[in-house]
Amino acid sequence: MARSKSDGIKINNKAMTNEGVHDQIRVYLKRSGLGDGRRLRKILMFAYDHGGHFKQSEIPFRIDTHDLDKLVQAGYLSRIIIGNNTKTLKPLYESTIGNLSHSHFYCDICEEITDFDDTLVEEITEKICNYFGHDKYSKHFQINGKCAKCKE
Ligand SMILES: [Zn+2]
Ligand SMILES: [Zn+2]
Repeated sequence: MARSKSDGIKINNKAMTNEGVHDQIRVYLKRSGLGDGRRLRKILMFAYDHGGHFKQSEIPFRIDTHDLDKLVQAGYLSRIIIGNNTKTLKPLYESTIGNLSHSHFYCDICEEITDFDDTLVEEITEKICNYFGHDKYSKHFQINGKCAKCKE
C-alpha cells in the first residue's frame, strides 16, 4: 500500500541528535528532487526545532510563500486550517518529519490545539474512499469543543 503523505516522515535511528536530524533533512530534500536549497532547509529545520504548530508569521526570517507550498506538496510540512464557525484562524504549519499522523482537537475557549493519534480516523477514511471508489490525497479531521481545563 502506498504510504500517504500524512503518515509522517520517519527519522533515521542514527539521527537522534538535532544535528543528525538536520543532516537527515538535507538528505530528504536532495532525494525529493526539490534540491538542497538553503532556503527550504532553513524552513524545515525551523519547523522541526519548533516541534508544534506555527503560523507563517511566526517564522523568524524572511521566506517565499511558494517555498512553503513546495514543502507542503512534497509532504514535509503539513498545513492545517483550524478554527470554528465564528472564527477562522490563519493556516498553521507543522513538520511531518519525526511526527506521527494525527488529528486535532481545537478548544473554542482557550484556542489550544491537542494532537491525537488518528489510526481510527485513517481506517474510516480508507473505508469511505473504498466505498465510493475515490482516491484519497489527504484528510482533515478536527474536533471542536471545550478542553478539560476550560470545563473546570
Ligand atoms: Zn480550553
Ligand atoms: Zn498537529
